[in-house]
Amino acid sequence: MVIKMKKIGLYAWFGGNVSIRERFQAIQEVGFDSVALYWGNDYPEITGNNEATLQMIQNEFHLEVENLHAPYQHADDLFSDDEKKAKYVMQLYFSCLEAASRYHVPVIVIHLTGDFCNPNQINPKGIERLQSLVHFAQAKHVKMAFENLTKNGLPYLDAVLKQYPDECVGFCYDLGHDHLYSEKEFEILKKYQHRLYALHLHGNDGKKDEHKRIVEGNIDLEKFKMILKNISFQCPVSLEVIQNLSFRSYHEFKQYVNLLKEDCLYLLK
Ligand SMILES: [Zn+2]
Repeated sequence: MVIKMKKIGLYAWFGGNVSIRERFQAIQEVGFDSVALYWGNDYPEITGNNEATLQMIQNEFHLEVENLHAPYQHADDLFSDDEKKAKYVMQLYFSCLEAASRYHVPVIVIHLTGDFCNPNQINPKGIERLQSLVHFAQAKHVKMAFENLTKNGLPYLDAVLKQYPDECVGFCYDLGHDHLYSEKEFEILKKYQHRLYALHLHGNDGKKDEHKRIVEGNIDLEKFKMILKNISFQCPVSLEVIQNLSFRSYHEFKQYVNLLKEDCLYLLK
């Protein structure tokens, strides 16, 4: 019997005052398999030039890039009556798909909604607009993973996953958001396990979206571990920790990255 070990990954911009090169050096030296990247131009001081960073990761550090996270600042506009606004946000997603295809990144992650969506009134235009993205994703052999966000966004997620049973349309399970916004924790993971293309694992106290280490919040990790064990999925077990961190040395930074790795391994034990 061949036992295939799960891959472990993390969102690259988790915090810390090191150069971009040192960041990926530490991630690679510690033994992560993959990273997830943000694919927008909003934080150049953190991400550098997206394409240059991605090429460095793939060619110098030989880390997998498991997904590109699309910009989310205008997510609600997908459902706007204003065609111009909707077109702008769609264009962002098209260019993410294009980049993912070019660099052989298998998945892009999308926030379907932002802070202003109305859970009782989903504009059907928004759902329809996705059709052209689905065609494009299919042609480019890239999958789109829609993430669970706030409570108001969950009906949108259900509507899209129902409307598009296509192979290229799936789910990004965000553990921290589930802990904050779901009535029955982990249910959505079980429900969409067969369409799971990305994991965003991070912790919080149940009150704020803190993006802490998973072990720092009050999520029932033993229960979560059991569920992970019992579902079958292909994507890496990947963290989305984001903290304001300051280290005195590269060595200290690397120690922290090692703690993050321990968190992943704990989930797989
Ligand atoms: Zn997330």
